[in-house]
Amino acid sequence: MNNSELAAEDLRYLWHPCTQMKDHEWLPLVPIRRGQGVWLEDFDGHRYLDAISSWWVNLFGHAHPYINDRISTQLKELEHVILAGFTHRPAVELARRLVQITPPGLDKVFFADNGSSAVEVALKMSFHYWRNAGKPEKREFVTLSNSYHGETLGALAVGDVQLYKETYEPLLLKAITVPSPDCYGREPGVSCEAHSREAFTATRAVLERHADSVCAIIVEPLVQCAGSMRMYDPVYLTLLRECCDELGIHLIADEIAVGFGRTGSLFACEQAAISPDFMCLSKGLTGGYLPLSAVLTSDRVYEAFYDDYTNLTAFLHSHSYTGNPLGCAAALATLDLLDDGSVLEKNRATAAYMSAAVADLEAHRHVGEIRQRGMILAIEMVADRSGLIAYPWQERRGLKVYQHGLKNGVLLRPLGNVVYFMPPYVIEQEHIDLMAQTARDGIHAATCD
Ligand code: PMP
Repeated sequence: MNNSELAAEDLRYLWHPCTQMKDHEWLPLVPIRRGQGVWLEDFDGHRYLDAISSWWVNLFGHAHPYINDRISTQLKELEHVILAGFTHRPAVELARRLVQITPPGLDKVFFADNGSSAVEVALKMSFHYWRNAGKPEKREFVTLSNSYHGETLGALAVGDVQLYKETYEPLLLKAITVPSPDCYGREPGVSCEAHSREAFTATRAVLERHADSVCAIIVEPLVQCAGSMRMYDPVYLTLLRECCDELGIHLIADEIAVGFGRTGSLFACEQAAISPDFMCLSKGLTGGYLPLSAVLTSDRVYEAFYDDYTNLTAFLHSHSYTGNPLGCAAALATLDLLDDGSVLEKNRATAAYMSAAVADLEAHRHVGEIRQRGMILAIEMVADRSGLIAYPWQERRGLKVYQHGLKNGVLLRPLGNVVYFMPPYVIEQEHIDLMAQTARDGIHAATCD
């Protein structure tokens, strides 16, 4: 079997995620045969450096021997069991460890099986909490502009990336959108901190106005990943926490993409020294191996559901694969690897090396900004640097970088005009050199026509 045979067979049967399938008339699919560390290998023997951790899930590289081993051991004992009425060791141990490593006040863990489902759980739990607490009039959600929380209808409703949302708008509950505190395009001379602090003024005004009807505000702490890797200052989260406490509004932190060390701290909320009322986790939770997600919340929220069955206050939400033992085993192995305190320290050096490797692009006439938070680095391509004028989306400049990357052995998957690196933590300097050189040449090819 070679690449083109498998690709042809694929196109007979598969419908791929986030894809206009007609593109594959001219854009070859890449069938992957195996992975090892930062590398993916196709059926023709070409290798690709996974600079985006396969949609931001992979933390310690592909086919990691320790994670493999833990999953195989678990597989010999128990592959799956219903989690209602039954339990198992990996779920219990994982819940305990998640409570231990997340910010204080997150005491209970509800498992689901993907990121969007975790967001649905947090939204429903928040609404249901207020209902159980005698405030059924609280039924609205506040979200930041340019945010992304997943693709299911509830998660889509509290997101704001129009490319994914607009078509389905008639089906969605109406969220209240406040301006994102993201620092791109701020006034010259204004610090990111000052900009994010200022953005909070509008948020506060909206929360004050709607406090009686709002259950929760949902945010992606520090980095709006699917929203072009836009970044903001932790001060916004600190102010938001204070304001939510004052007004009786839940704060939902969607750490699905930024959790487990991506932004430099184990959880992004730590940089603002806050504890959310709900924290959603997925992606890196299993090291990028298996679909699993978790929503953490407080004992206080939990207790509002705890009552006699006939009072009908229970959270009757379920997914068949909730807390799957193999997923939990992968997560436990991942936590073991993260437990070795040297990971975040090594990441600091890796992040600094990534930054230096593309520093010269600051001067490129089609680069509007290079921004970075820990292990996430993004390069914004612009038509005109002086006014930060974006390229029209129809020109698909990012796709040109993607194609250039594949030709040169690097999987880059720009978000519109934004080229970014979000590699597995095991990336080494020689890989970063290749990744940076490929991005540099790709940006040049895509912008200098
Ligand atoms: N929230 C955030 C912040 C995400 O980045 C994503 C996935 N990109 C999701 C939610 C949805 O997760 P999933 O794709 O597993 O449904």
